Amino acid sequence: MQIKTRLTLLYTSLMAAMLLTFAFIVYFTSSETREDEYFKRLKQQAATKANLLFDTKIEPQVLQLIYKNAPNSLFQEEVAVYDTGFHLLYHDAVEVDKVKETQGMIDSIISRKEIQFYIKDLQVVGFLYAHDGRSYIVTAAAKDDYGLAKLANLRNTVIIAFLFSIIIIYLAGQFLARKSLQPVSSLVNNVKTITATNLDLRVDEGNRKDEIAELAITFNEMLNRLENSFDAQKDFVSNISHELRTPLTAMLAELQLTLEKDRNNAEYREAIAHTIGDAQKLIRLSNSLLDLAKANYDQTEIAFKNIRLDELLLDARFDVLHNQPSSIVNISFDRDIDNDNDVSVYGNEYLLRVAFINLIENGCKFSADHQSIISIAYDGTHIELRFADKGIGISAETLPHIFLPFYRGENKKFADGNGIGLSLTKKIIDLHGGQIAVQSQEQEGTIFTIKLPHL
Ligand code: ADP
Repeated sequence: MQIKTRLTLLYTSLMAAMLLTFAFIVYFTSSETREDEYFKRLKQQAATKANLLFDTKIEPQVLQLIYKNAPNSLFQEEVAVYDTGFHLLYHDAVEVDKVKETQGMIDSIISRKEIQFYIKDLQVVGFLYAHDGRSYIVTAAAKDDYGLAKLANLRNTVIIAFLFSIIIIYLAGQFLARKSLQPVSSLVNNVKTITATNLDLRVDEGNRKDEIAELAITFNEMLNRLENSFDAQKDFVSNISHELRTPLTAMLAELQLTLEKDRNNAEYREAIAHTIGDAQKLIRLSNSLLDLAKANYDQTEIAFKNIRLDELLLDARFDVLHNQPSSIVNISFDRDIDNDNDVSVYGNEYLLRVAFINLIENGCKFSADHQSIISIAYDGTHIELRFADKGIGISAETLPHIFLPFYRGENKKFADGNGIGLSLTKKIIDLHGGQIAVQSQEQEGTIFTIKLPHL
């Protein structure tokens, strides 16, 4: 069911319930009042007749005559007077006798002084009447035709007014629901026009104040994030194809050139060495991409365990020296390690080693002395690793971009690379809840500082 319909029905039912309660209260209060007033009137009329009989001493026959000849005698109250011994002293119309008093009824009036009850539509009142120190029993019965007709009229009016109001309330509810959901409908139409090919479109944010505007703003923010991520993916793919094409083109050109004519052994060796170099670049690139993919996994999918960072750094140093025997890697501690926890973190061994190798390799390859100096410091909450080199440094303009994927600084001519290393390193450090910072001075050197929380 549409929200519009649901809102309309809810609104109509609520209003109907309120109207019904109101109508019931009005009807039953009127009904009670009519009943009370009629009983009172009956008693008054009966008392008046008893007065005429006892005080004014009007003959019973005269009273009966007046009763029978009254123009609305059918609706008149029929009065009867008894003494306490249940002897009839007066009756308006014995032949009709609507009440048919019994001894029980007379006894009940004597003990309770007054009783009121119904015989079908007839309202009957019986009460004790005192005259000259003696008690008499007076009964009066009549049907409140006028009051009942008024009540029936009221009931019909209430029913018609209720039905009429419900129709109006339903239509008003429909109008209100449509009006209040109008912005949602236009939002939906707006959103329908946005696809992967026009992610730059945004939905109308209206007055930027109400709940619908809040939804539109949140949606636009989500679109911003999606667009950025789409753009980043597009850039990423074109960067990868570029990075793959460069060494492949170089390999192809080298091999084609070599094949053009007969070469001597030295020339063949040189061509093969170049091709191997390009193939190694491709392997490094594909390894980096694989690592990047691993670092992009959900944290829950990556196996974490307790790792001693000093041992991991020694492993990383070993790997770097294995690949580049000319590198120099120094590791030092700011202070002694008292227990394992001082230099331990909860992390993924493989990814952290990749991050450290990247930083050590960068330090070595961007410095003439091919040296990376690593120092380890720690306190109760964090471990701080500093990777310093005395290399060519990074210019202030380049510095803000070095953590972007595929970004290579203007000093890239100094050493080979693919621009993935630092972005991958940052991702890995983020994944471990740590921070990475860089300080650099051109021609003086660079220091990367990593801060990782303990276990
Ligand atoms: P790559 O080293 O493959 O070029 P990285 O992502 O590791 O890519 O580094 C990005 C850029 O940051 C490098 O191209 C370089 O300009 C700069 N850079 C990183 N580390 C250093 C360093 N230790 N000294 C000088 N420049 C560095």
